Order: sequence, then C-alpha cells, then structure tokens
Amino acid sequence: MLGQMQHQPLLISSLLTHAARHHGGTEIVSKTEEGAIHRTTWAEVEHRARKLARVLAGLGVGPSDRVGTLAWNGYRHLEIYYGAPGMGAICHTINPRLHPDDIAYIVNHAGDRVLFVDPSFTGLIGTIAPAIRDHVRAVVMLTAPEHMPALTLPPGMRLLCYDELVAAADGDFAWPKLEEETASSLCYTSGTTGRPKGVLYSHRSTVLHGYAINMTDVLGLRAIDRVLPVVPMFHVNAWGIPYAAAMAGAALVLPGRHLDGASLHGLMNAERVTIATGVPTVWMGLLAHLRATGGRLDTVKVIMTGGSACPPLLLEAFGAEFGVSVEHGWGMTEMSPVGTYNKPKPAHAGLDPAGRLRLGLKQGRILCGLDMKIVDGDGRELPWDGKAFGDLKVRGPWVTEAYFGDAPGSALDAEGWFATGDVATIDPEGFMEITDRSKDVIKSGGEWISSIALENIAVSHPDVAEAAVVAATHAKWDERPVLIVVPRPGRAIDPAAVLAMYQGKVANWWVPDAVVVLDELPHTATGKIQKTVLRDRFRGHLGAG
Ligand code: AMP
Repeated sequence: MLGQMQHQPLLISSLLTHAARHHGGTEIVSKTEEGAIHRTTWAEVEHRARKLARVLAGLGVGPSDRVGTLAWNGYRHLEIYYGAPGMGAICHTINPRLHPDDIAYIVNHAGDRVLFVDPSFTGLIGTIAPAIRDHVRAVVMLTAPEHMPALTLPPGMRLLCYDELVAAADGDFAWPKLEEETASSLCYTSGTTGRPKGVLYSHRSTVLHGYAINMTDVLGLRAIDRVLPVVPMFHVNAWGIPYAAAMAGAALVLPGRHLDGASLHGLMNAERVTIATGVPTVWMGLLAHLRATGGRLDTVKVIMTGGSACPPLLLEAFGAEFGVSVEHGWGMTEMSPVGTYNKPKPAHAGLDPAGRLRLGLKQGRILCGLDMKIVDGDGRELPWDGKAFGDLKVRGPWVTEAYFGDAPGSALDAEGWFATGDVATIDPEGFMEITDRSKDVIKSGGEWISSIALENIAVSHPDVAEAAVVAATHAKWDERPVLIVVPRPGRAIDPAAVLAMYQGKVANWWVPDAVVVLDELPHTATGKIQKTVLRDRFRGHLGAG
C-alpha cells in the first residue's frame, strides 16, 4: 500500500519562491567587481530569476540545455543559480582558475549554449572563443550597459549585456512543475590527474543536500543569520549555501573577487556576518590580517572550513583570540559536496582542550541520508576503531552514480558504493578522519604510511611554511616517503631539525628518508598541492626506479 501524502516534486524553484514569499525583504549583499556594495532581496532575486528564465528562452535555451557561468559570488550569479534550473535548463558553473585549455575542453564537453561571464574574465573569453565556437551561441556579460567591455567574438557568437536583457524581459514567467530527478546543475571536478570530469546534480539531490546541511549539527542556517560564502560559486555550488540560505531565509553576503584578509574582515564587520564558509587558505589569510592589524570580528560566530585538512592553528587561534568557533566539514564535488561534519556527541562532553583540538581536526560524522565505510585493499570492511585506515566509500541520494556523459552507475562498485579516493579512519563514535588520498598514500613494505600525517608534523615546525610528502621508489621497501618543504619568508630550514619533529610522534619506519627544500610547491586551480607533479619529479630521488 502506498502512502497518501501529496506528491510535490522537490524543486530548486520552490526554494526561491519560499524565500521570496516568507523572507522577501531579507538582504542579498554583493561586493561588485568595482568594489561597491550592491543590495537586493530574496523577493527581487526571485522576480529577476523569472525574467532571466524568459531571457534564456529568448536565447534559444531549452530544457536540459547547459548554461555556463564564469563568475565570482554575486547577485547576478545567484539569479542564474535559480533562473536556469528553474526553467528546466542546467546551470554549469566553470572554475575560471583552470588553464584556458581545460576551460575550453569543459565548455565543449558540457556543450554549453550560452556563457554568462563576469567582465574580469573578458580576456579569458577572448582566448578561448575560437576553441568553443561550435557550441556557444552567445556570451552574456554580467554587468550594466555602461561597463560593457570591448570584445570581438567569432561569427555566430553574440556579445550581450545581462542587465539590458533582464530589464527588457517580461516578469510573468511561471516556474514549471518539473520532474524532481531533472538535471539542475553541472560542475567539473578539478582533478589533479587527467581531464576534468562533470558531476550532474538533480533538483532532488540539491534540495535534499540543502535540508541536510541545514540540520543543527551541520551548518544549521537560521533566518537571523547573515552568511558569507567565501567558497566560490564556481566550486560545487558554493557548498550548497545559495540553496540552503533560501530554505532558511538567511541573508547572503557575496564577496565577489575580493577574498583577501583585509577585504573579508571589512565585509564581515560592515555587513554583520554571523557565519562564513571557505577553505583553510582563506582563513589563514584572514587570521594573518587580524593579527597584523589588531582587528576584531564583531558579529561572526562560526567559521566553517573544508576542502582540505584544517590546520590546528585555525581551530586554536580563532577560538582563543577571536571567540569564533571553527567547524570542520568534508566532502567532494561528487557529493554535492558535503559528506561529513564535525559537531560533538555526548561522549565528548568532558574533553580537555587538547582532546577538543584532536577531535576538531577530524573530518566529522556522516550526514543523515548518507552512509560510509572503510575497506582494505581486498574490499573487506575495516573496523571503526580510529586506527585502521582504508579506502573510504560512500553512498546516498546526493552522491553521483556516473560522470557526465558516462553510462548510468559507472562510477559505482557492484554494491552501489562510490569510492571517494580518500583514505580514512573511523572512530567508535563514527568520526571519520582523512589520512590520505589513495594515490598519495606511501606503501612501504606492504604497510601504508599517511602522507598527510607526516605533512602536518612538518608544518608544525616554525621554519616551515608548506610541506608535501610523496613516495619515492625504494629497492627494498618499494616506496619510501620523501618530505618536500618550503621555508617561511626570511627563514632557512635545517632538514635534521625538521626530521627531529617526528621522534615520538610516529613509528620510526614512518620517518621520511629524505628532506628536499624548495622555494615553492606546485598547486592546482583550487589551491591544493599538485602531488602528481611532485611524485613525477621525486620518484627516483632515493636512487631506485
Ligand atoms: P573537490 O571535489 O575538489 O572538492 O575535492 C574533494 C577532495 O578534497 C576530497 O576527496 C578530499 O581529498 C579533499 N577534502 C575535502 N574536504 C577535506 C577536509 N576537510 N580535510 C581533508 N581533505 C578534504
């Protein structure tokens, strides 16, 4: 027997109509390219998103067509986040920090019909235009007529002005009642190897993810919050914040391209931000600025960090010096992205400061709706004892089953699990801790050594700014760790002193066999260390292979 409840599809447009109807006057604040502050509301965003749906139809965009964006966090980008999926098209956010060849590849692979572009990426469009002319019919600049840049496009590709198009469009569009499994958005992973791969979200997965991250033991956004997503809207839907904020009726503060410590500090205090989300690099920049200037955070209660491991300094310094709690989450493009979040359980009530720090560095427990497990090299499930580490697998309704263009289910194993590519432990309370990426783990004599554990110890040395540990081929042990370090400005690194840091902290056989000092490390477009480049360079460093 089926239940007798109403069938209402879970649609992205319904989040926006909710925000407009019940929180219509709540602000969306944007820092524009020019640095000025622009203010609008959820009601106005909904009105303009409906006009945008008309604009898209006028440009020949129909159901399932891909609409590309190359844009910072701002209100126009937010309108596309809702307008494109709302009318049945797919919002395809593109990371402008990628190499132009990769961007052209992504645009062509996605088959984008229209590109919506911030004026600061005009040069980039000029570079890639000849390579994308087969698909892209129009480039719409996200600006007012008076700020339109000069740009010559190939024949058949029109240059248009966003504000002009929206101003001229009718506002009578009605959001269609789509199937909830309809594709809504597309985001390519910034993989450190191979070509980027697309993850295609649905209305249903996006809405469920929004509910999940709005639970109190996750981000738990409230109508009284003013949320600053520093994480770019071109990176996995800004971790779902633009959708979760509409559900909660929270205000959004969108920083544009101004992501340095001084700009964020100014925006946080001026706009009374209560919660901010971003990668550790951004928060380290803010911390350095606050310490250098003696600045305070007047209203911020929570800083959420994710995307890469949380440095201990972040947890310690923001709490002790600024009264802000740093919360740690983990996820990936393939998971919409949030998978785990670190909030305590009753078992943690009596922890001392060292214990709280140790706990805070873990990536956290799985969100309700998802499941996870760790397995060894033969696929056997490992115990949740906080010690055994193995490949982390996940499943759930906001986890991908196939990359864009691939056969259904092709990203899953026979039991329907998705291999994250991360290596992790899980403790008896269900707190997961990443110990490595599976391809970064060092396999020494059949045992695994965590490169992340070794890097964390190296960066706790005062002379070390950044560290990476990669496997070098070894005649006897197959692989041994090599530590590569970058000195802090004005400091010199003594390799013996750095190696001494490992005594008593890890088993003797984990200690790196060699230390290499470099001026800088290679990084990916999302700021992660490019281990593949280092691996290729240092594979033969120990004289074997
Ligand atoms: P992306 O799809 O670009 O967001 O990258 C996802 C990957 O980033 C994950 O598979 C992890 O390897 C890494 N990652 C994300 N969050 C964290 C975190 N909190 N700690 C450590 N690694 C993380």
